[in-house]
Amino acid sequence: MVTTEVFENLKSLQEILVQKYELEGKKNDAPKQLSNQEDLLAKTQKEFIELKSTYDETQEQVTKLKAQLEEAVKAREEGEKGVANSTTHREYEALEKQISEAKIHEEQYRKDLQHEEKDLAELNERLKNSEDLIKFQETELNSSKESLNKELASYDQKLSKLKTEEDKVTKNINMIYAGEENAELKAQEILFKFQRIIQRNSEGIVSVRNGVCSGCHMILPANFANEVREGEDINFCPYCSRILYYEEVSEDQQEDYFDMGVAGSLAGLDEDFEDEDSEEREDEDEEIKSEFDDEDEIDDEDSEDAEDEDDEDSDDEDDDNEDEE
Ligand SMILES: [Zn+2]
Repeated sequence: MVTTEVFENLKSLQEILVQKYELEGKKNDAPKQLSNQEDLLAKTQKEFIELKSTYDETQEQVTKLKAQLEEAVKAREEGEKGVANSTTHREYEALEKQISEAKIHEEQYRKDLQHEEKDLAELNERLKNSEDLIKFQETELNSSKESLNKELASYDQKLSKLKTEEDKVTKNINMIYAGEENAELKAQEILFKFQRIIQRNSEGIVSVRNGVCSGCHMILPANFANEVREGEDINFCPYCSRILYYEEVSEDQQEDYFDMGVAGSLAGLDEDFEDEDSEEREDEDEEIKSEFDDEDEIDDEDSEDAEDEDDEDSDDEDDDNEDEE
């Protein structure tokens, strides 16, 4: 049967695509590792610029004070020289006043200058520290970038290997349809749908057991389940859109799957086909399952050991299915 061959290839393709999407996700997220370091560096650089501007202002203030001090000293010295040569009392008094004023200014400027120069030295020290920190953070960031590039290169290498495998399987599927009408279109459509399902669910091809889709646990319409069984064509689950293939189930297993089917179809009532909040849905599944577990316990009290074993098996199956989702 042609479809069996398609199913086998789709299962291989599924393995490839799951790895591919996982790697692509990692590749997208990887650069985010640097954002912390980049933020830190940007912060230090901003602090440095602010510090530098304060330093420049202080430096200007120091230069201005030095000039003022020089003038005050000059005024005092000139006054002192003048006093020695003064001829009138009035001239003498004016010069004395000039000297005392100059002294007051001189003293104030020296005090201010001392203060500003101390600030300047401190700022200079902080600037040096900030500069060192920037260099350090730049080095760290560069080494992170280097290892990120290695990481990205390894992802690319794996991805290109997967691409080769994907192309091979895709080619196989195209070949299978080659004889049919609109072959290319048909294969393309199947592949496109399949990729989209896997991007959302990580499982694009699932079995039908006892008329139940093992992807979403919904009971399929009987005539549709028969079509899947006949395997003439590719069928998509009407509830979860996964590709379906039929799996025969031995009779003693049937009861388990029936239980699972009922639980699953109840869970499926709330199911969002987009499967975007699958976590939430798992919780719902959990709740419904535990309800059924409770019922099982009540049944178990009246039932025989053999049925207990069956129930355990059924629980295991449920767990497996959760993991797959
Ligand atoms: Zn389904």
